[in-house]
Amino acid sequence: MANTEQCIFCRIVAGEIPAEVVRETERTLAFRDVAPQAPVHVLVIPKEHRDGLDGLVADGTETAGLLLQECAAVAAQEGVTETGYRVVVNNGAEAGQAVDHCHLHVLAGRRLTDTLG
Ligand code: 5GP
Repeated sequence: MANTEQCIFCRIVAGEIPAEVVRETERTLAFRDVAPQAPVHVLVIPKEHRDGLDGLVADGTETAGLLLQECAAVAAQEGVTETGYRVVVNNGAEAGQAVDHCHLHVLAGRRLTDTLG
């Protein structure tokens, strides 16, 4: 587990680093990506630090399910449910995970033609 004092997303949860929050629940936070790759680019995270997907699912499926539910809620709130959206989780170095606090990207608002790597 990472040092949560150094973790940028833990610091966003703590309100120590500003972020444009779009949704919040007791256990999850959704905020706009600082370097958006699409007109809608929101990150959905568990408030409690987990390095990545493995740490998250080791707790069971409840938080993982909540995060997916929040992704769908973000899409609805952003008005892209009908046009479509993509949910991406980069897990580990080779997948391109840059922030070691598990997060789901919600991307929408343009045609996402990129292949999956
Ligand atoms: P990863 O490559 O780890 O899947 O994605 C990390 C994402 O976090 C990147 O899209 C990056 O732009 C975003 N990010 C990094 N630092 C910050 C920050 O301080 N605030 C916000 N809102 N997003 C960040």
